[in-house]
Amino acid sequence: MKTTIFKCDKCGAEDTTNKIDILNVGIHVGGFWEKYHSGRRPEIRLQIDKEWCKECRIKAGLAELPKDSTIHVEPITLEDIVREIAYDAACDAISNGR
Ligand SMILES: [Zn+2]
Repeated sequence: MKTTIFKCDKCGAEDTTNKIDILNVGIHVGGFWEKYHSGRRPEIRLQIDKEWCKECRIKAGLAELPKDSTIHVEPITLEDIVREIAYDAACDAISNGR
């Protein structure tokens, strides 16, 4: 029997039923090499994806805080989120020898 473990890349929370609601968060930077309205999609030049649980997304302001939640949310800027994702991805790349 196989068991799938869902693990948050940010806080390390794990479960086997995805009650922690793992979703992708990331940074995608694209560029257009054709005229606008050419019908072509932008070429993705940089793509960093991480998988965060719902609590981490709420704390980062990327998911709605439930009305009955006891999660404490500190104000955070978009720049802070982008820096954290990029730093985490860089650390992964270094540890994987890329
Ligand atoms: Zn988390």
